Amino acid sequence: MQGAKPLGGARGAPWPALAVALLLAACAAEPPPPSPYVGAPAPCLERLRLLNMDFEPVPDGGSKSCPIVGAVKVTRVGQAQLDKPAVMTCALAEQLSEWEGVFVQPAAKRILGGPVTTMHHYGTYACRRSTGKSSRMSEHARANAIDIGIFETASGEKASVTKDWNGHDAKAEFLKQVGQGACTLFAGVLGPDSDANHRDHFHFDMGPWPFCQLNMIDPRTIRK
Ligand SMILES: [Zn+2]
Repeated sequence: MQGAKPLGGARGAPWPALAVALLLAACAAEPPPPSPYVGAPAPCLERLRLLNMDFEPVPDGGSKSCPIVGAVKVTRVGQAQLDKPAVMTCALAEQLSEWEGVFVQPAAKRILGGPVTTMHHYGTYACRRSTGKSSRMSEHARANAIDIGIFETASGEKASVTKDWNGHDAKAEFLKQVGQGACTLFAGVLGPDSDANHRDHFHFDMGPWPFCQLNMIDPRTIRK
């Protein structure tokens, strides 16, 4: 009688070992269990879809010490492209859109003569502590902050925080107005008046600590 050939290959692994190996292989092929919470919350995404912006949801990620939860990747806010895509919390994206529509474009048309078509930013996510006196983690550590340095119009004019913040011309006035407007919308606002780390950009975040560290302009200098 011809016996069954061993199934375990040349060495003839016993049946139990083969079964375990097959089981392990099957387990390895299984997709990981779904995260209990992935991506931005649906209500916030719904609100973003009603706004004039280009974005796409991104899965939760980041690192163990600096997780990114509830974020989207934004490429355009209203009339302004971001010079590079930016991953940020949905709440920050929503407020960025509000700020662009309510403050940036009206001020640009009134003061610079045309809309801002590109906003140059220096990043949203960085796993690090705050640059201020506090030792707490930065809002950048969870993609809940953005650093914006330059506003460019369709004609190529650039209002630069580095070059124009301390000026006395139209670009300086524009920067002061969008900075002042930001303090009414974002939770935290920093700029060149805050410290040397912010000499070349505005920092906007949606953290739990409200602050506005910009020297407000004399209201008599605001062009109506
Ligand atoms: Zn920042």
